[in-house]
Amino acid sequence: MTPEQIAAQFPTNDRQYVQTSENHVTLVCKNKPCKRAGRLEYTAIYVTPVLADRPGSTTYIALQGADRAAYARDRYEVDRILWTPCPACGSRNVDLRRVRGIRNDDKACGPRCRNAKGGDCECSCVGANHGADLRAW
Ligand SMILES: [Zn+2]
Ligand SMILES: [Zn+2]
Repeated sequence: MTPEQIAAQFPTNDRQYVQTSENHVTLVCKNKPCKRAGRLEYTAIYVTPVLADRPGSTTYIALQGADRAAYARDRYEVDRILWTPCPACGSRNVDLRRVRGIRNDDKACGPRCRNAKGGDCECSCVGANHGADLRAW
């Protein structure tokens, strides 16, 4: 689904509030013989409904993962939607790691960052390249 197609599902009044952002998470299989690590790219589409129409309603997030889109109300729901069993061994013992970028311009981004499996990134890319050389999950 394109952002435009997702936006079209919302009432006309809401569509002007659509914002998109590109994101990724890393996933790591905890099954000992497998231990696959991968990167999952997704687009978050934020739609803030007009509050006057529906008081109390919050921001919706539509996700375009590999093959799915769903609405989430917070980052925990986002993680639940993105989480998937290991594509290599089918194990459900999988860790999802949200990439947290901490700016450090003294540390040039390199192979260590591009192959990283952990969630924390502290280098000049501020998380953008973190785990970029991992296989797609
Ligand atoms: Zn696995
Ligand atoms: Zn990094």
